[in-house]
Amino acid sequence: MSKRDYYEVLGVDKSAGEDEIKKAYRKLAMKYHPDRNPDDKEAEEKFKEINEAYEVLSDPDKKSKYDQFGHDAFDPNMGGAGFGGAGFGGFEDMFGDIFGSMFGGGFSGGGASRQNVRQKGRDLRVNLTLSFEDAVFGCKKEIKIRRTETCDTCGGKGAVNDSDIKTCDKCHGTGQVRVTQQSLFGTVQTVKTCDECNGTGKKIVNPCKTCGGEGTVKKQRTLSIRIPAGVDTGSVLPLRGEGEAGKNGGPNGDVYIYISVKPHAIFTREENDIYCKIPITFVQAALGDSIMVPTVDGKVKLKIPEGTQSGQVFKLKGKGVQNPNGFGKGNEYVEIKVEVPKNLNEKQKAKLREFSDISSDKNNEQSKGFWDKVKDNFK
Ligand SMILES: [Zn+2]
Ligand SMILES: [Zn+2]
Repeated sequence: MSKRDYYEVLGVDKSAGEDEIKKAYRKLAMKYHPDRNPDDKEAEEKFKEINEAYEVLSDPDKKSKYDQFGHDAFDPNMGGAGFGGAGFGGFEDMFGDIFGSMFGGGFSGGGASRQNVRQKGRDLRVNLTLSFEDAVFGCKKEIKIRRTETCDTCGGKGAVNDSDIKTCDKCHGTGQVRVTQQSLFGTVQTVKTCDECNGTGKKIVNPCKTCGGEGTVKKQRTLSIRIPAGVDTGSVLPLRGEGEAGKNGGPNGDVYIYISVKPHAIFTREENDIYCKIPITFVQAALGDSIMVPTVDGKVKLKIPEGTQSGQVFKLKGKGVQNPNGFGKGNEYVEIKVEVPKNLNEKQKAKLREFSDISSDKNNEQSKGFWDKVKDNFK
């Protein structure tokens, strides 16, 4: 059950900034993405671990709690619900539980117990995998979530008629009871949450049929969302107020959509730039040519100058990805790979030998330069 340190999981330093964390996450998420590692249980576990770490370290609030309390800050027994859908409890929720268990419920001494406090609903997490193109151009998606909503029948009160809601007999509506205990130091009085009404101070005599008196119901919802152009693995999109219903008039939680992007057959992406390796023949490289190269916007003409070398990179300005945070587009970088011909027949070989015989050092400056250096250094 022992969990690895989140910083260790992402392979970053404790002092790592937002950008560094995002970069590390993106790299690992690409490597262990289930699409790239089909039927690999270990990779799947790794992917989950990476996501969990990023969920915490990418959120300044959660990060500072983690830095302070470690994994205990997100113990599933303390209101959170770990990776995989349910998300974390609100801050009050966690705080209440930590102090509740530390001080036996008597910490506040008086005042409202936390059941009566306005509480923000839980946040929900949704993992969404996009195709390379959908991430580049943006898209519309439908996501399914299961969330707690306020019961329509009773409006969250737990009973249809106000007259069915009575004051709790045991705590007289305060939500708390005093308990006298014998300890080493004598008789100690502590205040505990009333177990009869769970601290609400109320007793429902004729509970709402729809929600059984809970005031909330679980509902399956489909949300239509618009993914902006330019998102990438590691992008998190918040949907405010679409999470679980708040308690006691508190606001709804939020939904966070964690994006991961599938790899493309010929393009790779780094921030807003796109990279593509294109093979050309050695004749094209030597004589120069004009070729059509793929970009995300369709094919464009690229002039290959005479004497182009393998590894040479050409920039196609503005053929990259829209910057999701503002104006401007990245570029596409085309890296040339010169292909050396194989499976030559006798006629072809003869022509090449003929070509070689009439070639000079001027035609192969790199080779000449290298062997000159070898000669100078290994006398
Ligand atoms: Zn109800
Ligand atoms: Zn009570």
